[in-house]
Amino acid sequence: MSRKIATDVFTSENPVVCEAIENRRLTPESRGLFYDTRHIILRFKEEFPYVPGQSVGVQPPGVDEATGKPHKINYYSIASAGSGDRGDRQTISLCVSRQFRDDPQTGRKNVPGICSNYLCDLKPGDSVKLTGPFGHQFILPDDFQSRDFVFAATGTGIAPYRGMLREMFDAGFERRVWLCFGVQYSDCILYDEEFEKYRRFKNFYYLKAASREDKNPIPETVPTQYDRMYIQVRMYLNTELLGEIVRNPASMVYLCGLKGMEDGIFSVLDRIGSEKGMKTSVVATLKEKGRLKLEVH
Ligand code: NAP
Repeated sequence: MSRKIATDVFTSENPVVCEAIENRRLTPESRGLFYDTRHIILRFKEEFPYVPGQSVGVQPPGVDEATGKPHKINYYSIASAGSGDRGDRQTISLCVSRQFRDDPQTGRKNVPGICSNYLCDLKPGDSVKLTGPFGHQFILPDDFQSRDFVFAATGTGIAPYRGMLREMFDAGFERRVWLCFGVQYSDCILYDEEFEKYRRFKNFYYLKAASREDKNPIPETVPTQYDRMYIQVRMYLNTELLGEIVRNPASMVYLCGLKGMEDGIFSVLDRIGSEKGMKTSVVATLKEKGRLKLEVH
């Protein structure tokens, strides 16, 4: 019997109110405000059932000066397992980086994003309004125990995999899982300590790429912007082992993070497939069989 996934339990008219209980910076202080990514734990009083891979809406307080309407709700992937970081099913965690943008209308530079900065500034005890949970696509399948997985992430796109991996290993997952994670600098690899600990499981494979530190050694084969070390380069360099996963008709591939990351990763997956003797496009097959999950913004 398939799991029942709750969605849209709380709406903007009827949000759930939670309390911030932890707000921890994940990146070094020395990297400054433009590299400020936080792990935020929120506790709710009501029941809020979710599974990793789902997302929630955050309603920042206050109104938009230009429109006089409440600020827009922003959406974030859930970064905890269903049991929550405190193990009591009463918390949800988010992974949020401060956003800034240039405003072409006013010419102002680095205007702070309302919702991300509100979340990154939360203090323990502050209350937060959430909607959701949303989504039933980007989640683990019921039969995950019989599949291999490739989880590819850029930046805060790592969020859903944190909870998924926790649930998989808590459930005694024995098939293979590859976590392929790209960031700009190696001291900004989010949750690195947690993921490193999973290396004790021999079926956990962890690839990391620091795009602004390491150069792409194979730009003719896997082209990247400014020959940066993107995660698809590390993936291609592991063709021998990843080839086994790509050829397995039960494996699943998940991509989460920056819009645009899919192009480079798709061509590497296809290339690995053809080098391993596959006659048809790996990506086309993954899509056709519903074994590809995409969450890019
Ligand atoms: P970021 O730091 O800008 O980028 C992360 C890494 O990806 C960098 O090393 C970057 O390299 C690299 N990259 C850029 N273009 C790439 C490409 N075409 N292929 C492969 N790698 C590429 O990322 P971020 O600011 O954290 O943004 C993450 C994205 O995830 C956002 O769009 C966010 O909306 C989305 N997301 C967030 C959540 C969440 O819960 N917070 C959930 C789902 C998705 P360079 O910068 O050196 O070029």
